[in-house]
Amino acid sequence: MKTPSIPPRAGLRIPSLPRDRRSAKRHLWVPRRPPLSPFPVLSLCFGRLTILSFVKGPKGPLHFFLLLGLLLANPSCSGQTQPFKETRFMMGTLVDVVVYAGKETAPGAAGQAFERILQVEAAAHPSEEGSPLFQVRQGKGARLGGDLARILETAMHVSRAASGAFDPTLGEVVHLWGFGRDDPHLPAPKEIQQALDGTGYKRVPVGQCCPEKLDIWFDLGGVAKGYAVDAAVSVFQEAGVKAGIVNAGGDLRTFGVRPGRGYWKIGVQDPENPQELAGVLEVKEAAVATSGDYQRYFEEGGIRYHHILDPATGYPAHTGLRGTTVIASDCATADALATAVFVLGPEKGLDLLEKWDGAEGVLITEDGKILTTSGIGEEGIRFEER
Ligand code: AMP
Ligand code: MG
Repeated sequence: MKTPSIPPRAGLRIPSLPRDRRSAKRHLWVPRRPPLSPFPVLSLCFGRLTILSFVKGPKGPLHFFLLLGLLLANPSCSGQTQPFKETRFMMGTLVDVVVYAGKETAPGAAGQAFERILQVEAAAHPSEEGSPLFQVRQGKGARLGGDLARILETAMHVSRAASGAFDPTLGEVVHLWGFGRDDPHLPAPKEIQQALDGTGYKRVPVGQCCPEKLDIWFDLGGVAKGYAVDAAVSVFQEAGVKAGIVNAGGDLRTFGVRPGRGYWKIGVQDPENPQELAGVLEVKEAAVATSGDYQRYFEEGGIRYHHILDPATGYPAHTGLRGTTVIASDCATADALATAVFVLGPEKGLDLLEKWDGAEGVLITEDGKILTTSGIGEEGIRFEER
């Protein structure tokens, strides 16, 4: 176990407008999460040796395959049962499933799991005309049931515990920055202020949401991917699949006992050098999600703007952290907590995780220090720095 050493908090930095926006404009658009590549390309087995490789993403620079675990853990290397593997592009990233089940079960279950992810993606999309979220955004009111209700419940639970550092009502501000689209750009301060005026986690009623005429623009981008991973895992479990892993570009969940070894290995990227690993996590049954300033960003006027916003300012959060990896029992919670902790910064972020039953974290600071919560190193979760 490691005692976290907490660096002094970096002050809030609100980037100023570059003098000449047109000439200074330069976009470095990195797709959400490292683009993952199908395993067979990356994982070459020679007896017990697994070779790690690098991939070139569809839009961006070289990225390291985040899920080191699937490579290190490839059971075909150790003569174990062959897992079934499939990768599809959805939710703006590559989603990988690896499951241990027979030929008669695995492909069908995987197909259903991918369908389920698409269903969650559609439900959580804020701009789908006629959808409940769109209705609420227009102030028409709608009852948010099923998946949406459950996503919002997790989002609001984390939001309230984090005093609004995680805020699913930031939709208009996120939209203004263009994160999630191909044209992210620095908005004018006035625009940010106007968009911020309509936000606020306290506007969301406790309990049923949202029968009243609330014009809230929800953005569930910080939690829905984790929820979709949980939903896919449920499909596999209902189909009788005993063990596997679902990884949506770094938000992942393992279930069952990994044949042969028990632990699943997961690489944690070094934010300074994302093609390298800062460390390796080993978990049994757990969900793991990572938020980082290196996952989606653009540069304008020599300043780098990333996609995790401080709800207090509407600008990218600078609280001393560059990467937050959270381990929890479900992926929706891990996903929301990772975003919240990033915004809270090292001190308050560690506090939140220590208080949260069943959550642990690995936090990487701006000066490259790695902070871990007290439960890391105990039964079920190990972390080794690289
Ligand atoms: P993640 O990568 O899971 O940390 O989520 C980041 C995404 O969540 C962004 O692309 C936005 O869609 C949304 N988001 C940004 N800042 C926040 C915030 N403070 N609270 C909740 N969602 C946010
Ligand atoms: Mg998140």
